Amino acid sequence: MIYSPEEISKLIDVHQNTIYRWIDAGLVAAVKNGKYYIFGRDIKKYLSNSKKKNKVKLKLEEFYCTSCKQATTSIKEAISFHRTNKMLSENRYQIIIKGVCISCGHKIIRFESNKNLNEIQSFYKGAV
Ligand SMILES: [Zn+2]
Repeated sequence: MIYSPEEISKLIDVHQNTIYRWIDAGLVAAVKNGKYYIFGRDIKKYLSNSKKKNKVKLKLEEFYCTSCKQATTSIKEAISFHRTNKMLSENRYQIIIKGVCISCGHKIIRFESNKNLNEIQSFYKGAV
């Protein structure tokens, strides 16, 4: 299937300008009479590649800051640990770790298993 940027923007619910930005950034498109045409397989490939690129492997003590768009750690004084009701397996439950980005002050959050709680808490020693 071949799509126009307008059609793609409707299909995947992003702004039309985003599609043109992706074309500038390397999305393969054909131009005919001043109009862009994009193969369905090319948009699929482009999206799955950019997803991989955005994936950040975090260390236990790290968070992904949506403001800095990178791995960060929390201000020690701001960190807190919360147990949720979600069981991950028989003896494992989910915890939510809340903190504040040490670089920009943005709120950061991470879901973890209680299995890793001690190690994370010892990194943020002194926190409650
Ligand atoms: Zn940040």
